[in-house]
Amino acid sequence: MKTIDDYNFDGKKALIRVDFNVPLDGDFNVTDTSRIEAAKPTILKVLEDGGSAILMSHLGRPKGKVNPDMSLSHICETVSEIIGVQVKFAGNCVGKVADDAVAELKSGEVLLLENLRFHAEEEAGDTSFAEALAKHGDIYINDAFGTAHRAHASTTIVAQFFPGNKCFGYLLAKEIKAIEKVMQTGEKPVTAILGGAKVSSKITIIENILDKVDNLIIGGGMTYTFVKAKGGSVGDSICEDDKMDLALDILKQAEAKGVKVHIPVDVLAADAFDNNANTQFVEVDKIPDGWQGLDAGPKTLENFKEVILNSKTILWNGPVGVFEMENFAQGTIAIGNYIDEATQKGAFSLVGGGDSVAAVKQFGFEDKVSYVSTGGGAMLESLEGRTLPGIAAILD
Ligand code: AMP
Repeated sequence: MKTIDDYNFDGKKALIRVDFNVPLDGDFNVTDTSRIEAAKPTILKVLEDGGSAILMSHLGRPKGKVNPDMSLSHICETVSEIIGVQVKFAGNCVGKVADDAVAELKSGEVLLLENLRFHAEEEAGDTSFAEALAKHGDIYINDAFGTAHRAHASTTIVAQFFPGNKCFGYLLAKEIKAIEKVMQTGEKPVTAILGGAKVSSKITIIENILDKVDNLIIGGGMTYTFVKAKGGSVGDSICEDDKMDLALDILKQAEAKGVKVHIPVDVLAADAFDNNANTQFVEVDKIPDGWQGLDAGPKTLENFKEVILNSKTILWNGPVGVFEMENFAQGTIAIGNYIDEATQKGAFSLVGGGDSVAAVKQFGFEDKVSYVSTGGGAMLESLEGRTLPGIAAILD
């Protein structure tokens, strides 16, 4: 795997795909700078070698049309402050404006190109557009994990114009290594904690990781499909009746592969999907009609705690309850605390995919786990066992 450390950028122009798709407030101030900070080490390495950096990214969903509200010019000052260099801006990512700005760029300088998605060719993966982008750089660096699952012009197609001169940036390399550590080289016992709303959205992940884990903890809304399939009463809990056979099949496959599956034994049930609903702890397979399980119960958490604290490698995807409502967030917070404790004891813990990162940030676990993935969809696809096109294009 070629990373940026395999290159010296002295006198070179590095074309870097970053993920600067950051949130902006009504006055176009950046409200969360973490994606910019995450790209900083890669940019600094290029500059410190004596090269120049040409940054390209998308922002929002302009759908192929110029939209001043989604101009990357809004973030230019913030990027300058974070990397400590006054960043130049080109009002288009291709064409004369961009070409001239690139031609004038000197060693040690940084140029930010306008939003790639102002051109429909970006998301279409258009080859001529990718070639026009490729002209800007001597070496291509992909450091945007969040878009690595898309075969867009700047994330994938562009790489073909850099044979022998393309590599992963530090951030993308870290993501790849973290996933490898869980899926391939993780120290045993390996435990996956899968929560979230539906079995149907996690099925491919479950099937893929059954070959890689020792323990599978199932929580959240998925629980009830498994419980009902085994003959339990789940009341009004979220349940996919058409996935019950699949749930039983997963349990069978797990048994055949020697994977221990841990399902909640008790839950916090509510008489409405509402933070202020009446609640009671009930056994998971005896939920009365009119009640729905919205969080893990105390016995369940004790069981999960033991499994997590005995694990050496932990993957967490998906909350074990409706964490958006305060009264049903305790289970998810507890899981975060157990992972924190296991990590302190030396386990490697990776959190990522879909909404997991939101939960982790909301409860302040970001610095307590070993690695928080920066890519929602890209992480889910990696866990499903797919090779992401943006990664394959560099390895090619
Ligand atoms: P996902 O994107 O599949 O990881 O699902 C995350 C969502 O699952 C969150 O919005 C949670 O509120 C929801 N969720 C977790 N547990 C439950 C539950 N018991 N009932 C309904 N929704 C749940």
